[in-house]
Amino acid sequence: MKIVALYGGKSAEHEISILSAYSMLQAFYYEYYQVQLVYITKEGTWLKGPLLTEAPTAEEVLHLTEETATKIKVGDIVEEDAVVFPILHGPNGEDGTIQGLLETINMPYVGTGVLSSACAMDKIMTKHVLQQIGIPQVPYVAVAKGEWKDDQEGVFDYCEGSLVYPMFIKPANMGSSVGISKAETREELQKAIDLAFQYDRRVIVEQGIDAREIEVGVLGNDEVRTTVPGEIVKDVAFYDYESKYIDNQVTLQIPADIPEEIQDKARELAKKSYIALDCSGLSRCDFFLTNNNELFLNELNTMPGFTPFSMYPLLWKEMGLKYGDLIEELIQLALMRHKEKQ
Ligand code: ATP
Ligand code: MG
Ligand code: MG
Ligand code: MG
Repeated sequence: MKIVALYGGKSAEHEISILSAYSMLQAFYYEYYQVQLVYITKEGTWLKGPLLTEAPTAEEVLHLTEETATKIKVGDIVEEDAVVFPILHGPNGEDGTIQGLLETINMPYVGTGVLSSACAMDKIMTKHVLQQIGIPQVPYVAVAKGEWKDDQEGVFDYCEGSLVYPMFIKPANMGSSVGISKAETREELQKAIDLAFQYDRRVIVEQGIDAREIEVGVLGNDEVRTTVPGEIVKDVAFYDYESKYIDNQVTLQIPADIPEEIQDKARELAKKSYIALDCSGLSRCDFFLTNNNELFLNELNTMPGFTPFSMYPLLWKEMGLKYGDLIEELIQLALMRHKEKQ
């Protein structure tokens, strides 16, 4: 059987995808699979690289160019007896677009489907849907580009009427904290909204809260399993891009040192949200936990960071499922879902 490893991608999280992909390539069970590399450049060109029969020893193998690899048409990866592993984070990968393409060409693929990918990637849609089933979330204001262009004063008034400073401003669709800022004043709010609009046509302004950050791993199709929560322990103001990938100013505490009933509550909310968004395969469900033990769901990441030092695989390791077996399980879940649809 063949695994088509799709990585890179037209997204601000391009580099993170390469990191995740390299880690996964170390862990596929090559006694069962050959791995076809397909790299999507930042510009969106698809490059078909080598067919691997063993784990690559250097990350260079992944950095394909038009000189070293064959340019193929977008989506030209239909193969018998193969499963696609989209190791893509952020827009154009984790947001339902690639998933829609893979549905159209009828290839089995790892991870959640079109609707759940699109919905979970969009922080505004996620809020709307999960509000409907009573999942606790921080208050927020959604801003469309047209509104911002026409009436900035109106947007300020609305934000300041519904929320208090500090506020967190985010592009509706993004990840790795790209385009996110914290605002303490109206002036900062304006700058933050302008910045977020560089990444998306919709922006979310959220109530900033002082809270611990805990995350739950979710795995499964019809039978949904959750992990104990882990905590992102940080001494930075917020978990921004630098602290995630450059400075390493955070440590992961697994399991999180929190009361058992809070652990159970987080797992229950994660599972409920996963099902409500029609997720399958996997997701990492992120929460805020306040001093008085109040939980708020922050977001679901349907293709979470996947290096051996990332929260999602470490949470499953804690549950007794090691990295390679986790990947194998994801492949089996993909095949199962595909078979059921035929
Ligand atoms: P990921 O890489 O997990 O996909 P993301 O880009 O989708 O991240 P968020 O998780 O929404 O972004 O926010 C990034 C970080 O900003 C959070 O981990 C947290 O540290 C901080 N943050 C976001 N929203 C709030 C908030 N409402 N109050 C306090 N801190 C927040
Ligand atoms: Mg996210
Ligand atoms: Mg993400
Ligand atoms: Mg997050």
